[in-house]
Parts: sequence; C-alpha cells; structure tokens
Amino acid sequence: MSEITVTTDATDREDFVKDITRMSVDFDRWYTDVIRKAELADYTPVRGCMVIRPYGFAIWENIQRAFDDMIKASGHENWYFPLLIPEELLMKEAEHVEGFTPEVAWVTEAGSHGKLDQRLAIRPTSETIIGTLMRRYIQSHRDLPKLTNQWCNVVRWELRTRLFLRTAEFLWQEGHTFHATADEAKEEVDRILGYYRDLSEDWLATPVLAGMKSRTETFAGAVYSKSIEALMRDGLALQSGTSHYFGQNFSTAYDISFSNQQNQRELCYTTSWGISTRLIGGLIMAHGDDTGLVMPPRVAPVQVAVVPIFRDAEGRARVESFIETWRRAVQASGVRLRVDWSEGRPGEKFNRWELKGVPLRLEVGPRDVEAGQVTIVDRLTREKRAIPATGLDGRLRDELDRFHRDLFQRALDFRERNTYEVETLAALVEHFKERTGFVWAPWCESEECEARVKEETGGVTTRNYDPEAGAKGACLVCGRPARRRVASRGTRVPLLEPLPQRNVGVAGKQLKRPGGPGPTRCAWVPWATSVVRSGGLTG
Ligand SMILES: [Zn+2]
Repeated sequence: MSEITVTTDATDREDFVKDITRMSVDFDRWYTDVIRKAELADYTPVRGCMVIRPYGFAIWENIQRAFDDMIKASGHENWYFPLLIPEELLMKEAEHVEGFTPEVAWVTEAGSHGKLDQRLAIRPTSETIIGTLMRRYIQSHRDLPKLTNQWCNVVRWELRTRLFLRTAEFLWQEGHTFHATADEAKEEVDRILGYYRDLSEDWLATPVLAGMKSRTETFAGAVYSKSIEALMRDGLALQSGTSHYFGQNFSTAYDISFSNQQNQRELCYTTSWGISTRLIGGLIMAHGDDTGLVMPPRVAPVQVAVVPIFRDAEGRARVESFIETWRRAVQASGVRLRVDWSEGRPGEKFNRWELKGVPLRLEVGPRDVEAGQVTIVDRLTREKRAIPATGLDGRLRDELDRFHRDLFQRALDFRERNTYEVETLAALVEHFKERTGFVWAPWCESEECEARVKEETGGVTTRNYDPEAGAKGACLVCGRPARRRVASRGTRVPLLEPLPQRNVGVAGKQLKRPGGPGPTRCAWVPWATSVVRSGGLTG
C-alpha cells in the first residue's frame, strides 16, 4: 500500500478528513468512518440493519445495471418471488435447511389473526420457493433452460453489523436456473462466474481469483460451489460472488421434472448464484485510502466533480458562463459530471469530493477561464494538470478509462505483492503470524487437513482451487500426494478480535511466487471482514 498524504487544510472549519481514522492505524474503524462520512450508509435503530443513503444506493444501481445487462444478453429473465416462505417448503431439502436454520427469521403471528398455523420464514435465499413454483412452469424439454433471476432483499439473522459486509437484511440478486442436462447446468455455473469476474474487474477495477470452493466451504445443498475472491487493502480476502451447481439435489427434493424428447420424465439440473451489496464494501476496501473512498469510474455515481473558484458575484458569473460552454456536451456524452455550486470554500469542496472518491476533479478559476482551460486533479495520484476546455467530453472519457486501468493495475500490483507460496503447514502458520495476503499451498483435498489448517492458524480458510495447476507435490499437512493447489486467506471477523499484526503496507519477504507447473494448490488466507457466512450464497 502506498503512503498517502492527507490533504487537510488546517483552516477548513469542516475538516472531513481529520475525522477519519487512518487506515494504517485501524482498518476496521477506517472502513466504518469512510462509509458514514462519505454518506454511503449508516446504522439504524433496527439492530443488524443498515440504511443505504443515496450516494451508496447509486453505486448499487450502477452495479445492478451492469450485471443485469450481462444476464439479459444471455437470455436470463427477472422475476419476483414471495418474501415469505412457508416452513414446510423450506424443510424439504435437509442439507440446505441445516445450513440456514441458525440464521432464519420467522413470522409467527399476524395482526388480528393471532398465531399462524404455520410459521413463515423471511427468505434467507429463495431456492425453495422458486423450485416449488417452477414445477408449474417446467413441463417439457421445450420449457428448458429456464433462466430466472430476482433482485431482492434477504434476511439472515445477524446482530454483529458491519455496514455492507454483514447485516441481517441485505440486497442482492439471486439467479436460479433449470436445465435438461448436467453439462448445460455446469456451463451456466461457469458462465456466471465469468460474468462475476468481468463485473469485478471491468467495472469495479478489482482483480479476483475465480475458482472452486472446498467441500467445507460449499453452499448448503450444492454439489459444488465456485467463487470470486478479492484481496482487500488490509491483506485479507473478500468472497465477492458465488455460483453453485446443485446437480439434481433440489429437483429431487422439490420434484422439478420435465418430459424429455423420448417423452420420459426426468429431473432438472439446477444452479444458483448471487452477488450482494457486499460488493460495495469490497470496492471500498480494495481501493480506499486515508483520505476516503476511491471510486472505480464505471460505477461512480459522480465521475467528475467541478469546483468553481471565484471571489465575487462578477467572478462567479464569468466562471459559470465558461462552465456552461462545455457542461452540457460532457454530460450528453455520458460522463456523470456534477458542478458543485454549494456554499463553502473550495478547500472544503476538494475534501468532500476526495472523501467521496470522485475519480476526477476539475477546478475552474478566473485564470482557467482566461486560458480556456480547466485544471484536472486525479484522485489516485493527486496530480494537477491544465487541459484545454475544447473537446473536453472526449478527453474526460479517455481520462476515466485511464483512471480505471490505473486503479485496476494498482490493485493487481498490490495483490501480487501480497501473494505467497508455501509448502508446509509450519510455514503457513509462520506466514500468518506476521503477514496476510493470499497463500498458495498444495493440499490433498481432505477435510481433516483443511480443519487442521484452520485450527493451527487460528482461522485461516481455503478460498479457491487453482483451476490451472495440476496435482503435484505433497499435501502441506499430511504429506500425502496433493490433489489441489489451494489459495487461503484470512477471513474477516474484525469486530471480535483484531488480527495480531497487519503488515499490510509492507509486502514483507517474498516467498516463492506462484505460477508455473506445481502441485495442485489452493489459496489460503486468514479470517477478516469477509466472513464466510455458513451456507451464504454470497459467502
Ligand atoms: Zn492432507
């Protein structure tokens, strides 16, 4: 992590920046401070539930739009299913139920009707209700594939609130698809995982590891689960999206069948996949700095903030008419530009937009007007340059694309500096005493060895299998031949116990680089904010 100079103007009455805990001092407090000061979200009188404020919701809307376009283009359709699920329905798939029971909220009585005959679950996820209803719409092979998605809220009882990362109620999309063959369903799981990777990298400027989860980390009721995992700036990982293959588990429990070409009944193969408002938490932690947010331009609610600088009414009029000569063209070209005419000194406005992470700031003063230029300031580098006002729309679009690439590259460099490779459990334990980051290690795939790693490291979990590396070498725990190369990471439970030491900014002594032919490996990381919810679709 690069050292960031905090640009505070001592004379500013409203010093936003000073109120933010420095990232290097306390990452978790920094995280909460930034979210609240930048007006993304806040706590509410409802325990476990957050309010998403307009600036935060606008980010979610941009994420939604991007992903919705991807799935619509490949034939998926949005539905809306009931919030309440009768207990009987929820109970049909045993493993799934078991995974969710500790987190399910129930409605047991209703107004003047008193106690209900049957409890109703507030959806923790919708496999059960969707599966039940799909029986009605899937009759023959001609009705397949059925590619459904819904954007909605879900509730998983959770009292330790972490804004965007862990709340009892959160917003997400859940896709549920029904196929005639296993191969087709598996392809769907991979297609969606690819979309999640694209969303993360092309829109959120966050590189991810995309791969298979271990058996222990598999979604309740799934045959297998895949995920994307991103590295945050405290060196801990965040599971940012998951895609699950159910085989015929759900269609057996819910009797979702179709008549095939030979007119025989066959059970469907199903998938489900989800991303949530947790992605917003991810982009904050992947890109932010001591001054606040750094927004990836493609989802930034405001991409360019214009701060007019003037002394008096006459000066204001001149600056305003100059801005009006290009403002409309810039906005018409699709750039989300806002001119900040609010009261207050320019320094306060600079701080506010820096805190909100707006990628580009334009300062327009009398000298700029005279020279027919604007002064552009980059949120990442703080570099100031004068650029001509003519053709500003095209220039800004180019600048935003460049900003996206720079931001992605910075995150990628950070991940590479914080990726390691170890061969033994002792080395892994040693590693996580002093460092975080992704660690690749060979693994035999047994649950015992996985549990042992978790125990000895105080919570390090497997994240992803390396899809490319073959099985070679010896398991880091038992020494038997490795079958997988596994990435691990620290998981996030920051409110409970701060991790011993976080040398986030210091990459530390590099261990062997990953890559090249090696044993099957998996990435392991210690626990931090990315809490893997047991059985959670989004982790
Ligand atoms: Zn082993």
